[in-house]
Amino acid sequence: MKPSHPLTHDEQDRLAAAAAAAALNAYAPYSRFRVGAAVLDSDGRLHTGCNVENASYGLCLCAERNALSTALGTGARRFRGIGVACIDAAPGLGLEGRTPCGACRQWMVELAPDAEVVIAGGDGRQPMAVWPVSALLPDAFRLT
Ligand SMILES: [Zn+2]
Repeated sequence: MKPSHPLTHDEQDRLAAAAAAAALNAYAPYSRFRVGAAVLDSDGRLHTGCNVENASYGLCLCAERNALSTALGTGARRFRGIGVACIDAAPGLGLEGRTPCGACRQWMVELAPDAEVVIAGGDGRQPMAVWPVSALLPDAFRLT
């Protein structure tokens, strides 16, 4: 499904930059792979999050879900874009090493189905890829 209100190039750049800035706050002592995410709501507000690791690895929280939780906590319910930045990714790491994990995709399908996902490039400014959420998890699980 194509977003009804696609992101402008300026909004894509803004999401990538905000995600890269949020990654600086990551708590990633185990992987040393800092990730930031930024969510643009339908009112034009940005909400950010970073990955938060834990010694009990299964409890780690991804930046994307952190940012979405933060946004929901302010009352935001409709989202147009989600930026993701992996600031410690090796320069040669392709998109497969930077895309949201399956858990985050499931969150996006339920909470931000009309959003586009912007993957920031190595410098956190030039987007490497932009996809509608629906393209990241076809035939997603739903209860509605
Ligand atoms: Zn994830």
